[in-house]
Amino acid sequence: MPGYRGLALKALLDAGAEIGDLIRIIKDDVIFEGILIPRSEYSDDRHIVIKNRSGYNIGVEVTPSTRIERIGAEMKPAFIPPPPPKQRPGLPRVSILSTGGTIASRVDYRTGAVRPVISASDLYSIVPELADIAVIDAEILFSVFSEDLTPKHWSAMAEAVARHITRGVDGVIIAHGTDTMGYSAAALSFALQNLPVPVVLVGAQRSEDRPSSDAPLNLIGAVLAASRAPFAEVTVAMHETPSDDSIILHRGTKVRKCHTSRRDAFKTVNAKPLARVIGDRIIMLTNEYRPRDTGRRLVLRANFDERATLIKFYPGMNPKIIDWYVSEGYRGIVLEGTGLGHVRRECFPAIKRAIESGVIVGMTSQCIWGRINMNVYSNGRDLLAMGVIPLGDMLAETALVKMMWCLAQSTDPEEVKRLLLTNLAGEISERTVEPIEAPRIFSPSKEAD
Ligand code: ASP
Repeated sequence: MPGYRGLALKALLDAGAEIGDLIRIIKDDVIFEGILIPRSEYSDDRHIVIKNRSGYNIGVEVTPSTRIERIGAEMKPAFIPPPPPKQRPGLPRVSILSTGGTIASRVDYRTGAVRPVISASDLYSIVPELADIAVIDAEILFSVFSEDLTPKHWSAMAEAVARHITRGVDGVIIAHGTDTMGYSAAALSFALQNLPVPVVLVGAQRSEDRPSSDAPLNLIGAVLAASRAPFAEVTVAMHETPSDDSIILHRGTKVRKCHTSRRDAFKTVNAKPLARVIGDRIIMLTNEYRPRDTGRRLVLRANFDERATLIKFYPGMNPKIIDWYVSEGYRGIVLEGTGLGHVRRECFPAIKRAIESGVIVGMTSQCIWGRINMNVYSNGRDLLAMGVIPLGDMLAETALVKMMWCLAQSTDPEEVKRLLLTNLAGEISERTVEPIEAPRIFSPSKEAD
């Protein structure tokens, strides 16, 4: 009897009622009839919730005089996905790999919140329009929220993508939680080198059982890109604006979730996004991309060394935290410093000790937009002289992922440093891109040309 406690549970047990039964509640001469449905386990202990014949759910407060009768058994509430749409042979072939997150979630009666329970093939049947764009093969990799993913999951995702690409698909989609989608996108950008076809990560800010869900349009944009985009890169496909107007394809190393709840939460930082999808058109927004070429051979480098960390500096930060990471055997530290790339002088001795013991220390900025420049102020120059590596305009999260990846490629510190400073997957822009593009509302008819 999920979610029922106290008075409400006792009244239901006395009547012999179970979830899914048709029951009658008689209260103050009013009769309510409907199917008993579960409640969240965090709700109160006085209400019974039924789904009445019109489909509405109503909650009835139980008082000592409330009577309950069980009328009979009805259908237990459960999610039954519609049958998958008919495949149309001859269309491009796309694989959807699901990992969980809101895009693969429905409301869970246990907690009243959403839970990742939908598989890649359910997604396909829920958005039947996808069958007009591509022939889709679906695989469940995991069913977790993205805050529960680790670098081991990144490796598993990269290996799965490689497996599907080897089978000859025209593109691969990864349905993913939005919270750490930027990290996974960066990880795949380094792990999947020399890509022949696009790899598109897609998420949703609202689960697909809510009327305001952004999942269907995001998925349609992702499938269009995976099957037809001219580029072969790791990208993230999400809403461009709060409306269902267009989808933006962000490069995997330059993308960040910048809002907790808006549908247009994802922004490309310090670069131009790759492309926009409006209707069934893909409009390239830059000429700088690796073109799709199915003749190219994918190189898989799926290992990450988890002995790397990201430390966000704040005024008064205790430098001992740096010593702690060194004593725990960490091999790399990415600092998210202030402004152009600084931390307080109090931290300098700990940073020096870390570098002297062989730890690679890189600097990024908590400003998010712009690039670091450690030559402007004496604190920056002192850090450079100690051997701190300036990481250009890389996002701090991307820098951490890259640090983990570089440490797994080589045990030679000089080689790790060389890799860190080399632009491998668009993570370092040579030129600063100004300004931050404000979200615009597009009129599809005007924008199409
Ligand atoms: N916490 C969720 C996740 O990242 C949020 C989402 O999917 O949007 O998995």
